[in-house]
Amino acid sequence: MKDGHCPKCEGLRIATTRYTLYLGAGVSGPTMDLYACADCRYVEQYMAGSVEEKVLVLDSWRWVQREGEGPFRS
Ligand SMILES: [Zn+2]
Repeated sequence: MKDGHCPKCEGLRIATTRYTLYLGAGVSGPTMDLYACADCRYVEQYMAGSVEEKVLVLDSWRWVQREGEGPFRS
């Protein structure tokens, strides 16, 4: 969708904006790049910056556990 093409309806009118998620008073959430299709209104969003850094620095972020993996691997 970043290339200006909608994966759902093949639409070519894609708008984008950047915003920061609000997670509560005094807490700044991740900054997001949002892409919206003008034809079907399908939306994709991508986090700006490093996901690894969020997991490393913030207690509220963790890796999703994959099936078959033990709970003690990171
Ligand atoms: Zn679309």
